[in-house]
Amino acid sequence: MKLDKLPKFNLAQFPTPIHYLETLTKTCQGPSIYMKRDDLTSLGMGGNKTRKLEFLIGQALANGADTLVTAGGIQSNHCRLTAAAACKAGLACDLVLNGTEPEVPNGNLLLDMIFKARVHYCDRENRDVQLLQVADDLAARGKKPFVIPVGGSNAIGSVGYVNAMVELGEQLPSMDLKPDAIVFASSSGGTQAGLSLGARLIGFSGEILGISIDQTKTGEDSFLPVLEEIANETAQRIGIDMALTEADFSLNCDYLGAGYAQPGDLEFNAIKALAQNEGILLGPVYTARAMGGLLDLIQRNLFTKDQSVLFWHTGGTPELFAWADRF
Ligand SMILES: *Cc1c(COP(=O)(O)O)cnc(C)c1O
Repeated sequence: MKLDKLPKFNLAQFPTPIHYLETLTKTCQGPSIYMKRDDLTSLGMGGNKTRKLEFLIGQALANGADTLVTAGGIQSNHCRLTAAAACKAGLACDLVLNGTEPEVPNGNLLLDMIFKARVHYCDRENRDVQLLQVADDLAARGKKPFVIPVGGSNAIGSVGYVNAMVELGEQLPSMDLKPDAIVFASSSGGTQAGLSLGARLIGFSGEILGISIDQTKTGEDSFLPVLEEIANETAQRIGIDMALTEADFSLNCDYLGAGYAQPGDLEFNAIKALAQNEGILLGPVYTARAMGGLLDLIQRNLFTKDQSVLFWHTGGTPELFAWADRF
């Protein structure tokens, strides 16, 4: 296994803490609720992309790159953390963001500015083409761009979440904790692919339950083949003889609401519940939707009182400020 030998650039302090959410547990009268605090990764206001970026930037530096290029929505946490990581690694950063430039940048976009990223605005349907175009333009000017896919979800980045599962496996025994389920926000797939592969690797027997933010698992658009592909390419990259199939992924697609970055009552109620019970903040796009889903599953008695659930907080709190008018 090559997990410790892959190129890596340290961006934050690990392990992230695990907290027991005592008040929320009492309020819900369901399973014991714990939280893995990847919102507290110590770079640029934190979040799950930090773990992927450690391996992505390790590879970029090994390739001799001088500029990171990636894409996302205007309030992309991935883009904000790529910009922050580029600063720390001494690299330039170009971001392709779908949306129109607001008069006053807020939330993640404000942080992109502070981290001196060059922002290219485009339409959603042109985003993938624009990403490659920006990289081509940089190369034509003699730069060495390193393209990171949306969400950092490829075999390079996903290794970060295999590593995270190994980290969790080392933390749980000291807390005498065996979660029956790990619940988290799932979107571009790198987190879920890495966690599921990591669970297999360390022999974790609980459920790895992604709450889908914007993907479906039915019909032609099913996201399960993508999860399978990322996981298996990641296994190859690490050099472990393991193969996951579509059936190995639990993806709950019941909480898609009005669509991506369209938070509603589910999300705002979850934000208030966590803030007012625990003093912990969630982001409206990802973590509030996933927590809203978990609270609903608890209310529907999908977990018993003697079980424990670990919510893996993937960050996104800077999104809050872009929805200031909704509070
Ligand atoms: C990107 C992101 C996710 C989803 O992670 P994927 O690896 O893209 O599935 C979840 N939460 C937050 C806050 C994110 O920024």
